[in-house]
Amino acid sequence: MATFRLQVVSMDGLEFDGEVERIKLRSIHGDLAILARHMNYCTAVGMGTAEVTLADGTRRKAACIGGMLSMMDNVCRLIPTTWEWSEDIDLERARAAKERAEKVLQEEYLEEQARVRAEARLYRALVRISTAGKE
Ligand code: ATP
Repeated sequence: MATFRLQVVSMDGLEFDGEVERIKLRSIHGDLAILARHMNYCTAVGMGTAEVTLADGTRRKAACIGGMLSMMDNVCRLIPTTWEWSEDIDLERARAAKERAEKVLQEEYLEEQARVRAEARLYRALVRISTAGKE
């Protein structure tokens, strides 16, 4: 199968740079798959499990939260806000973050900003838990 270059760079540094067959992820418009020779394209990234199919057919999963993706002249650049390969996810930490967020959301009087922050934290934790559980 045809391949293309994928570069993933997060705030933590270079997460991946190599030839891949496909990347699937959640954009703000919905699920997206990029294959070789995809037209030039740019989108904001949502929150979800990304799946990268390497040139040898191996599939790797990562929790991918926010950021931008571009495909230009057969080079795909992904700059996520946070990115953790499934094997690097600290499940206990994600479960603790989920519990903290749920506790906040149960508070009777919660300001709008606090509610939005807690919902986002809960969603990030759920993506991490689900990504770590897959494979
Ligand atoms: P927490 O409350 O546990 O910090 P969070 O959702 O607020 O969770 P983020 O602000 O999204 O955390 O991420 C901060 C940094 O920690 C990023 O580098 C992210 O990749 C990393 N990170 C967050 N949660 C985990 C996790 N469960 N396992 C591994 N790395 C994580």
